[in-house]
Amino acid sequence: MTAESGIAGPAVRRMTSLLINVSTLLQEQIGSLRRYELVDARAAGLESAVSGSLRLLRTDQSVLATAALTTSVCDLCGRCLQELQLPVALAFDEEFWPASDAVLGVAITPPPERVGFAVIDGQIDLSEAVRQYLEMERPMSPRCGEDCPGLQDDKPQEAPIDDRWSVLAALKLEIEQD
Ligand SMILES: [Zn+2]
Repeated sequence: MTAESGIAGPAVRRMTSLLINVSTLLQEQIGSLRRYELVDARAAGLESAVSGSLRLLRTDQSVLATAALTTSVCDLCGRCLQELQLPVALAFDEEFWPASDAVLGVAITPPPERVGFAVIDGQIDLSEAVRQYLEMERPMSPRCGEDCPGLQDDKPQEAPIDDRWSVLAALKLEIEQD
């Protein structure tokens, strides 16, 4: 009996980094798979730790990363202006392209419609993909919850609004009252 009994496929590797070495994977045959569990992975440029599952598939020329991740962003409640930590779920497929074929030693010319990221020094860095998807998934007008207290009256008065902004401010008030 092994821990993997009954489950086909590669073992899940636990990672605490978004920087993943794929130099061995790139020397394996097309269709080779790696599975990872990301646990509280942190990276520069990301507000919060990232967790979730990641699958790397060796394609004919690239590594296809399929990720289902969770993280959080810091934001302000649009109504009461309290700081919030908002959970965000991200799911994406992205290709990572090496500059050359690790087996044949020849340069890879990616197709003209290529999208994705580069494999650099045998590594893929998921943090830029995470950052881009995070921007897309960031809630537009976050609320702290059902019982948001709204703007408190005892808040210090704001400076008088410049005339040029008063039209916008009136519009904002209208929208908020809808
Ligand atoms: Zn609120």
